[in-house]
Amino acid sequence: MKIICIGRNYVDHIAELNNEKPSEPVVFIKPDSAVLPKEQDFYIPEFSQDVHYEVEVLVKIKKVGKHIDVNFAKNYYDEIGLGIDFTARDLQAQLKEKGLPWEKAKGFDGAAVVGAWLPKSHFKDLNNINFQLKKNNEVVQDGNTGLMIWKIDELISYVSRYFMLKKGDIIFTGTPAGVGKVKAEDYLVGTLENTELFSLNIK
Ligand code: ZN
Repeated sequence: MKIICIGRNYVDHIAELNNEKPSEPVVFIKPDSAVLPKEQDFYIPEFSQDVHYEVEVLVKIKKVGKHIDVNFAKNYYDEIGLGIDFTARDLQAQLKEKGLPWEKAKGFDGAAVVGAWLPKSHFKDLNNINFQLKKNNEVVQDGNTGLMIWKIDELISYVSRYFMLKKGDIIFTGTPAGVGKVKAEDYLVGTLENTELFSLNIK
């Protein structure tokens, strides 16, 4: 199983990090070892003083495909979820500055929170799904998939030009504005259309 992540897919988040708006999706991979085991707390790694949460809508791939036409992309997933792309922002900034790959800042153990899944049929319109992240009971990120630059089907088509998609692969579709730092004792809750899909303690 692999995790394919999309960066800079919401205009408001691009602005908050002073990044340029890309002409194509920004893509990176997290290893399967990055998945935080269910019910486990998230431990801030010792190599970072600035770990950020990024709440993202997830898509689970259900069958093998490559060079998937955008019009057929809908046949490759049945489940939608929510997760966190934890990012060691200080380490990422150092790597970005040197033009080096981000993997250490994004792919470390526990850096991928994968919540519960909902059937695609649960949603009237996949391009109008509200999602939220609460930190200590306060909403810190409030997004809607309608604000994505590249929609789910476009992302599947795009990434399948480079990576064969396999059953069980997960796509992280990018984060909206509001990313921020976690500290020990924080408590995070993620909701998709008001259904809670994950909760976790920061240690
Ligand atoms: Zn992200």
